[in-house]
Amino acid sequence: MGANRHMSVDSRGRYTPEAAGAAVPGTEGPAGSRSYNPVSTRRASLMQEPVLVLNATYEPINVTAVRRAMVLMLKGVAQAEELHSAEVHSAAHAHRVPSVIRLLAYRHIPQQSRALSRKNILLRDRNTCQFCGRIFPSSELTLDHVVPRSRGGRSSWENLVACCYQCNNNKGDRTPEEAGLKLARRPRPFTLHTSRQLMRLIGHRDERWRKYLFY
Ligand SMILES: [Zn+2]
Repeated sequence: MGANRHMSVDSRGRYTPEAAGAAVPGTEGPAGSRSYNPVSTRRASLMQEPVLVLNATYEPINVTAVRRAMVLMLKGVAQAEELHSAEVHSAAHAHRVPSVIRLLAYRHIPQQSRALSRKNILLRDRNTCQFCGRIFPSSELTLDHVVPRSRGGRSSWENLVACCYQCNNNKGDRTPEEAGLKLARRPRPFTLHTSRQLMRLIGHRDERWRKYLFY
């Protein structure tokens, strides 16, 4: 039983109103019958808004996008616990967009494997290069293996840090000591605390997440 298979519904698992031919910016309707509609653009970004995912026990376990959350709801895997103020419209219906969803059946999801991603490492390190201490936009940061992979360094929370390209170049295939670099702080392992912290950072604008994340 793939524990978190349902969390990775791919882009083919399309939300039905979209498949029903709702206007997509930049694409012409039949014989140009549809003009460009800025509302569609707003909806496209709405579909990417973060949604907090709770386990059946109300434990926060993940953050997904509105689009995936709605697929999970349509499949009967999850239900909305909190709703966004916005709606999406299909030909026949208006759908309230979820802000928090809850899985209907309990899933055991290993924490470490679930959360290890470039985005989460950059969040943990607050977009700060862990060698020079400067803050960069995500696009100007890479992930550095503190102990290089060539030396058996693993891709893990304890061995990956946010790093600017310049420091990454300077460090090369060496350990920080060999390169004369010092880590701003020791990379923290992934814990429940980290998990909550990351979800708070992602959801900081959404009041509806607060009661589930205890802040
Ligand atoms: Zn740097």
